[in-house]
Amino acid sequence: MKKEQPVKPKRPLNGKGNPAFGWVWLILLLYVVLSPLLTTSYGLKEITWQQFSKDILSRKAVEKLEVINKERVEVYIKRSFAGDTAFKNVFKPAFGSGVNSGPHYTFTIGSIESFEHNLDEAEKTFTANEKVPVSYSYQSNWLMNILTWLAPFILLFVLLNFLMRRAGGGMTGPGGTSIFNFGRSTATLIEKENSTVTFADVAGLDEAKVEVLEIVDFLKKPASFTKLGAKIPKGVILVGPPGTGKTLLAKAVAGEAQVPFFSISGAAFVEMFVGVGASRVRDLFQQAKDKAPCIIFIDEIDAIGRSRGKGAFLGGANDERESTLNQLLTEMDGFGTNTGVIVLAATNRADMLDPALVRPGRFDRHIYLELPNMNERVAIFKVHMAGLTLAANIDLQILAAQTPGFSGADIANICNEAALIAARRKAVKIEKEDFMDAIDRIVAGLEKKSKIISPEEKRIIAFHEAGHAVISWLLKNVDPLVKVSIIPRGKSLGAAWYLPEEKQLRSKTAFKEHLSATLGGRAAEELIFGEVSSGALDDLEKVTKEAYAMVVYYGFNEKLGNLSYYDSTEQRDLAIQKPFSEATGELIDREIRKLIAQAYLDAKTLLAENKVSLEKVADLLLKKEVIYKADLENIMGRRISASPAISQQKNEGVTSGA
Ligand code: ADP
Repeated sequence: MKKEQPVKPKRPLNGKGNPAFGWVWLILLLYVVLSPLLTTSYGLKEITWQQFSKDILSRKAVEKLEVINKERVEVYIKRSFAGDTAFKNVFKPAFGSGVNSGPHYTFTIGSIESFEHNLDEAEKTFTANEKVPVSYSYQSNWLMNILTWLAPFILLFVLLNFLMRRAGGGMTGPGGTSIFNFGRSTATLIEKENSTVTFADVAGLDEAKVEVLEIVDFLKKPASFTKLGAKIPKGVILVGPPGTGKTLLAKAVAGEAQVPFFSISGAAFVEMFVGVGASRVRDLFQQAKDKAPCIIFIDEIDAIGRSRGKGAFLGGANDERESTLNQLLTEMDGFGTNTGVIVLAATNRADMLDPALVRPGRFDRHIYLELPNMNERVAIFKVHMAGLTLAANIDLQILAAQTPGFSGADIANICNEAALIAARRKAVKIEKEDFMDAIDRIVAGLEKKSKIISPEEKRIIAFHEAGHAVISWLLKNVDPLVKVSIIPRGKSLGAAWYLPEEKQLRSKTAFKEHLSATLGGRAAEELIFGEVSSGALDDLEKVTKEAYAMVVYYGFNEKLGNLSYYDSTEQRDLAIQKPFSEATGELIDREIRKLIAQAYLDAKTLLAENKVSLEKVADLLLKKEVIYKADLENIMGRRISASPAISQQKNEGVTSGA
């Protein structure tokens, strides 16, 4: 896979280069530069009392003295001393030409009293006429006053800004957010030169590619559409489970059309402050219009586009989300059909979207992406194996067969995981076994060989798994078993792998047999040890849900009849408001219980009849820890399946269960 590098747009998208700090620095700079100029002491020669009394006062050169703010004395020299060499420079002005009329010197004093005392002492020999006149004055430094008044505010502001940056950084990615650009869009922009993903990187999804091809054509040659008066869709929603390549497809559209690509997640619009979402939407569309033709990709649009009102009384503060959604709708209505901005959005819950969002003229096109089928999985494996060093024994068909229900992202993950496993064992090539290990790890979690399990516990686990294995081998409507293991993985202590067949319909018998197979573990424990353990938690949960669905959704119960309380619109929250009466509720409880009890009884009976096989399977498990279909065939003979086409199976999830 080629990697694309997000490029920073010229205009800061996320808070860098914030001009708000500018004026704070300007004030500080002005103060540093101007304050010496504005205080009158600028350009004065600073001297000491001793220098003053010895060199200036004793020569009777002082015109007058001025005491400023009780702390500083300014000295004016008589004009008659202008020619004196000692005072030659003081009459020169600091700037320009002319004569400096004073003050000419300054010195600081401790206190008025000590100054007056010292002056009297120094002038002891002076006549009354010769005594220097002293005046007192106050000068206030207005700039300093303003600054002292402003300082706490500036400090507070700087602190707040700093905190906001820190908080914003965590929420919106690199660069952070300051209080001044909360309203800026946080979208990442991939410039067209860096849009390197193409349709070749997207395996499978043929129908979806055909649909988006039209968008590529429009972005490339808008004129050929517009001259016929055709309107190009403004918004397209990609609907599909996570990891099926929605983002990848959107990037590929940008890459094929060679246009810039803005990408943002729906959740990133909404912040803790009111109004931020709306202004981010505005900003994003503004930027996009500047870069048209381009693509805006909004991932998880349901974060803002969820049907208004739904769950309102549960969720509470929805106003912000609603105003963001409104802004999005306004923007989409606002830009003309042919401005060249196309919004692609992704969600896995199209049914949850607000009807206003999917109205014609907005996101009126829906492209559905499904989990890949067998052939598509082969193609996805090929794409992701392109950069790997593989051994010759890799069979793509087997890998694809082993990964039903996996998404493209899962397969990408398997390829990477296999490479890591191979690297860990210092291999030069990635072998088939590395891929198998990677698949197991992704399905059931990491093997935990270090988990301490006592021999008795191991026996219980072995019989539990053997119970599942034997029942699912004997009941022909249960998905075929491929592997049983008693090595702890993730949270489970053991697991059985099934290969679900591609079927759109399941009969009532198939449901019942599945219940029995799931309860087979617990039944085996009871049969062999006379007691059950807590190991069946996961099974019981599954069984309860399945039995509930049989009775409440699929209308499998005679007493309840052909009715279903399933609500595909999700308008009603079943946990709060039950659509049936108390009496029906009790009936449902009773029937579910009966169903499960019968399935358990069936499992136990079947196991009792096949106790020898059960013991053989458990013993083999204890010996080998992992056993495969072939081992079970050796013990119990070939399995008779309801549908013989196991090898043709194409799709749908591997299920695992302890
Ligand atoms: P989504 O947006 O649907 O959740 P992504 O597009 O982010 O999924 O897919 C995640 C990753 O999975 C992609 O980067 C890619 O590596 C891989 N992937 C998913 N679907 C495909 C596909 N059809 N072909 C190749 N790779 C795929």
